[in-house]
Amino acid sequence: MADADAECNIKVLCRFRPLNKSEIIRGDKFIPIFQGEDTVIFGGKSYVFDQVFPTNTTQEQVYNVSAKEIVKDVLRGYNGTIFAYGQTSSGKTHTMEGSLHDPKGMGIIPRISGDIFEHIFAMDENLEFHIKVSYFEIYMDKIRDLLDGVCLFVYFEAQINECTCVSFTKGCTERFVTSSEEVMDVIDEGKANRHVAVTNMNEHSSRSHSIFLINIKQEHVETEQKLCGKLYLVDLAGSEKVSKTGAEGALLDEAKNINKSLSALGNVISALAEGRKSHVPYRDSKMTRILQDSLGGNCRTTMFICCSPSSYNDVETKSTLMFGQRAK
Ligand code: ADP
Ligand code: MG
Repeated sequence: MADADAECNIKVLCRFRPLNKSEIIRGDKFIPIFQGEDTVIFGGKSYVFDQVFPTNTTQEQVYNVSAKEIVKDVLRGYNGTIFAYGQTSSGKTHTMEGSLHDPKGMGIIPRISGDIFEHIFAMDENLEFHIKVSYFEIYMDKIRDLLDGVCLFVYFEAQINECTCVSFTKGCTERFVTSSEEVMDVIDEGKANRHVAVTNMNEHSSRSHSIFLINIKQEHVETEQKLCGKLYLVDLAGSEKVSKTGAEGALLDEAKNINKSLSALGNVISALAEGRKSHVPYRDSKMTRILQDSLGGNCRTTMFICCSPSSYNDVETKSTLMFGQRAK
């Protein structure tokens, strides 16, 4: 097992996307002022994070700062979580996935998967690796398995597996993978299933949390010593508030549910950032219960705060920046 006393470290990285075409046409102003590597001034207020990525930062640069080390740690038996927070169209999916099959445009997930297999091929031949992935989403506090053709809602409960990792998603499909290409195939399959299950994909993806889980087990063929690590990669639901008068009925229920789950996540992260070891409110939402063993103690956590630079979104961007500050 990895060193259980290792300090839980939470990194908060802030990324601004460029102004898009319609914002430029509308004449929106570009608000953020970037200072040094870790500071952004927005609306006259200064926000400091572990790193701030200005709009021209490449996918590769983002990967190197955010995930490269975590991949090595997961192969050493640590657990980790990387998630992206921000309003709809702030760049969460661009950051987590990007263009899955374009070497330049690839986001974090395809780069991580490429890196994992590269490391494995370079490691001790006496180590046998078993890598499996799951892909699911949480919608209205229910888990939907994206690798099951009909996107079933699965029941979940705590189970202790052979590596004494707590797993909350036993009901979910697990796919064994032996190459980065196979990981990409699984993601494509999950995305296709997700499209089939919903009528408006854009709307839907902004209202559900999507979670890609990579589980790595290694075993030494002679000593039979085992080591497990896993990594959750989370593309959160959009953090925008619905206008007070705009939503009613089912839409309002959805919005309330998203607010509740995002604030539960914020509360857990800020409790951990304060260094609290007990009374971390993991049980307040399904997502934090699932992520529990990868968000505290023996873990690596990175949170992306994705922001729009446009004056049109300034209220949401401020609220996103504040959310990130709570974790510092
Ligand atoms: P979200 O997942 O937060 O709703 P997306 O990742 O889908 O937002 O981004 C919205 C649009 O902006 C997409 O067309 C995406 O390609 C583009 N985009 C986002 N971030 C960047 C960036 N850093 N550089 C260039 N384009 C970006
Ligand atoms: Mg998205």
